[in-house]
Amino acid sequence: MLDQEKLVQTVLSCGAAKAEVITREQIVTNRAFWDICEGNGCGRFGKYWNCPPAIGEPEALMAEIDTFSRAVLYQTIGEIEDSFDIEGMGEVGVSHKRTSRRIHNTLPEIMDGTRFLHLSSGGCDLCARCAKEENKPCRFPDKILKPMEGYCINVYRTTKGTGLKYINGANTVTYFGIILFEETENG
Ligand code: SF4
Repeated sequence: MLDQEKLVQTVLSCGAAKAEVITREQIVTNRAFWDICEGNGCGRFGKYWNCPPAIGEPEALMAEIDTFSRAVLYQTIGEIEDSFDIEGMGEVGVSHKRTSRRIHNTLPEIMDGTRFLHLSSGGCDLCARCAKEENKPCRFPDKILKPMEGYCINVYRTTKGTGLKYINGANTVTYFGIILFEETENG
């Protein structure tokens, strides 16, 4: 039986700045975000197993999200020198990935058999060079975290009405993760 409050507390204890339970209705999806990935601004499209198009077509990904009834949305907030501090943004991004990894490692036990989908942000950093570039299978398929945007989630609109702000003040950067789960009678 899943204890949702315990899940939130676990996410916070793993390093997230804020976390809260939201309903499926609060999660806004739009295939335009998959299309942005396809625009390949980050240079990762088609090169990583955890990113589009390897994770599936947008309609299938949105349909998968529809199979869950609730989620825990969480965020990492970090300070940067100014809006041009790319290095600082990268450091906060690495910190967020570590937090997501710690959370991910706790999930098999805390979810207690509840079906779930854990998404984070950005590309996979588990290997120096993704096996996809060599046309080989993913080396750690059970450990990879797929990006929320790649799953067509509009993160900005999903934060509306929650206690998690999309922007957290001047000289800060914020990254998000989400654990979707299937609510049952017992939890
Ligand atoms: S674990 Fe390695 S092979 Fe798999 S997606 Fe990540 S970088 Fe690629």
